[in-house]
Formats: sequence, structure tokens, C-alpha cells
Amino acid sequence: MRLSEYTALQIKKKIISREIRPIDLVEHFIKRIKDIDHDIQAYLTINEEETIKKAAQIQKKIENGENVGILAGIPIGIKDNICTKGLHTTCASKILENFIPPYDAFVVKRLKEEDAIILGKTNLDEFAMGSSTENSSFKITRNPWNSDYVPGGSSGGSAAAIAADLSILALGSDTGGSVRQPAAFCGVVGVKPTYGRVSRFGLIAFGSSLDQIGTLTRDVKDAAILLQVIAGHDLRDSTSMQVPVPDYLNEIDSGVHGLRIGIPKEYFDAGLNEDVHNALKNALRMYEQFGAKVVEISLPHTEFAVAVYYIVANAEASSNLARYDGVRYGYRTSKPNGIIDMYCHTRSEGFGNEVKRRIMLGNYALSSGYYDAYYLKASKVRNLIKNDFDVAFQNVDCIICPTSPVPGFKIGERAKNPLEMYLSDIYTIPANLTGIPGISVPCGFSKEGLPIGMQILGKHFEEKKLLQIAYAFERETDFHMKKPVLKWSTD
Ligand code: GLN
Repeated sequence: MRLSEYTALQIKKKIISREIRPIDLVEHFIKRIKDIDHDIQAYLTINEEETIKKAAQIQKKIENGENVGILAGIPIGIKDNICTKGLHTTCASKILENFIPPYDAFVVKRLKEEDAIILGKTNLDEFAMGSSTENSSFKITRNPWNSDYVPGGSSGGSAAAIAADLSILALGSDTGGSVRQPAAFCGVVGVKPTYGRVSRFGLIAFGSSLDQIGTLTRDVKDAAILLQVIAGHDLRDSTSMQVPVPDYLNEIDSGVHGLRIGIPKEYFDAGLNEDVHNALKNALRMYEQFGAKVVEISLPHTEFAVAVYYIVANAEASSNLARYDGVRYGYRTSKPNGIIDMYCHTRSEGFGNEVKRRIMLGNYALSSGYYDAYYLKASKVRNLIKNDFDVAFQNVDCIICPTSPVPGFKIGERAKNPLEMYLSDIYTIPANLTGIPGISVPCGFSKEGLPIGMQILGKHFEEKKLLQIAYAFERETDFHMKKPVLKWSTD
């Protein structure tokens, strides 16, 4: 087995027992990134010097018999909309191309406290707006399973990095599916925690009532350990909740016997790809064999979720992105003709088309005369959607559905039609609108050999149960262990 193929838990044992030296591990990853990432384009920045320095420090600690953190010496890729002190954080936007944060995001601080090694910053759709990573201003990330296909988005760089063994762990952010959908497209595990479970301090804001930082890993146990490190209350994010963080690994193998699994009938309609449908049917049969009861449920307001999301998210984005005005930091146009001209040119030169489209739509939905018709109405329908889930969860322990209606799509296929791109978020968006946690786990492959993801949704703050349910499936299957053959490189 190649060094880069191990899970975090496996490599941790080897590091602690001194079988593997952190320095050799990170050098292996840096070499691998240099060798093959020009084909995949998962990373925007490689933190080479710091990585080696940090690995040497951890190695010393281990050699001296000192205590080390939970993630000692384990490399992690961070989505480039999460602030890293002294390391570029661009949001894949020209407007932040030269931005170097003076502080670490809460999650990055936690990772460093536990001795993880920040390997680099991963590519995304500009400001996390997209489902394919094609909206990055800098590069297009390719799906390691087939280079003609997108890796999903917006955390496509992080998902591709895990799938291609260019990191062991990765962080993403999920506003409408951006952790779960790329996890599904790349055949890895993606967790979107409950809104309020993980601090958003230092996550560059997109839709503040929806955004949540999540994990991308090779398997469910690694997701448990990474979530353990980043979860918890933080005074600097007023929406982070003071809810105790349980031990996620403890009892992860307790199985699903006696649990009730809800299957929303609206999620299995005509628009669902046949291979995805079959993979889900097979997974549900397995859950029944494991002793769970599968029951049909209804989430009647599902059809409005995409429309509601694109009003709420864009409204919040238009307000959050008002700060990029060329005054304090970020890109500024050269030779402006007065202050208004400076604002206009800075923003029209700094933002890409998708970001501009969303700012315009968001401002429109919030403008006087339209606010009631769009934003207020969307907020009311959002409540109806939340109500659907509250009712459903009175009867079931979790909900299982596809992560995405299709196994993947080709680069360029949907880029010209924003509406088609937006519709691909249909199954992931409701969790963000309602704040509930969700996990995507590999559950099969399409005829073309692309991975398929199964989504498990749970009640607020029940990530522990979700991980148990996901693990019950994972331990009996080997989808998560399959590796893409990187045909177009010298692997
Ligand atoms: N694809 C969705 C969008 O374009 C979700 C993005 C996200 O979760 N950051 O808004």
C-alpha cells in the first residue's frame, strides 16, 4: 500500500509507534502533489516550507516521548475560503488573489492545536458559488475518476485531493451541498454538521444562515475524528452553539438494529438517474438486512427548496460581499476616476460572472418593493420546509436519499446553463435551509465507472447517530476502498 493511501487512523498508529516519520509522510505527499496535481488541479497553494517545519517539530516531540495531539503529523488540505494565518486565502477569486489573513479560522486553530499539518489550500468555485469547481478564477479541478468530469463543487479541490490521495484529510464548506455533492462525485465521505456545531469564525461568508464547515475523508471513522477536532462552541461565532460534543468514535460500530429509516418519496422521482436509484435501492436492502426498518415518508415542500435557497443564499451573499470594495483589502482597480468609479471597476474586474449574477439577484430580492415578494416569501417557505422535516423526524431516526440526482457531469456540460447547475442541488439544499446534519457516503458506481453517493440526514446535533448509521453500511461494503486509476498521469 502506498503511504498516501492510508486513513488518518491507520497512519496515526504508525506515527505514534514510530513506524512512519511525519517528515517522510509529508515529503511523500508534497512529491505526489508535484508529480500529479498538474493533471488534477486540486490545490491552489502548497504550504511546503511550513509543512516540513511542522513535521520536523512533531517528529521531535514524538522522539522525546512528549504528548502529541489527536491528529499528530497528519496532512490536511483546507478549502481556500477558510482563513489560514500567513497563508494565501483567495476564495478562488481575483478580488482576494493576494489576501493573506492575519489570523486563523477557529477550525484551523483547532487543527494546529491537535498537531495536524496544513498541507495546502484547495480549489473551489469562486466564493463557494457553484456545483462543479468550474467557477474558480484560477483553475478547473478534474475528477480523479475521469478527467473529463467535474469533481463536483464547490469544495471540488478538497474532494479531489482525498480521492487522488493528495491529502489524508480535508475541510470544505457547505452552504447548499458543497461538501456532500463533491464527496459523492469523488467517491469519498463528506459530512455537513448541524448549523451551529462548528464555528464559522474565519470562514469567508457566503450565506451566513446556511454556511457550515464540513469534513472530507476516506472513510467514516476519519470523518468522526476530524469532526471531533473542529466541533464545539466558539465565542467569536454567535451562531455556534453550546452543545456538548460527544465522543464520535466511541460506539461508532453500534449498528442500526431497530432504527427507523425514512425514505422521502419526493426524492425518488422521474429526474433520478437509474444507476443512482439502483445503488440506493441496494443500500436500503442492506440496511433492512442489518435490522433497520425502512419506511416511506413525505417531504411535500421539496419542490420549492431550490427556489427558496437561491433567494436566501443570494440575498445573504449580496450583503456579505459588499465588503469587497477595494478600500481596505483585496484587489483595487488601477487609475480610478473618483471613488464611485473605483468601487465599480474594482468589483466588476475583481468578481467573476457567477458571483456578479448572484450579487445582482440578491440585491434585487432585497430591494424595496421586492423584499416582500421574494425574500420574505422565501423565508416563509423555508419554515414550511423545516416543518416537513420536523414532522418526518417524529417518526424516523434518519432520512436516506441520494446525494445528487446524477453520478456526475462533464466539464462544460452545465457551465452555460446556470439553472441546470442550480437544479443539481435539489437533494442537498434542504439540510442547509433547515440546519440539520448530513453525510454522504460512497454506495456504488455508475455504468461509466463514476462513484455514487448516498446521503443520510439526521436531527439537529445527532451527528453521532449519523456516523453510526453510515459506518454500519461502510463496514459491510468496499465502495470507499476503491481507488481511481489516474490514467492520465504517471501514477
Ligand atoms: N451549489 C450550491 C451553490 O451554488 C451550493 C454551494 C455551497 O454549498 N457552497 O450555491
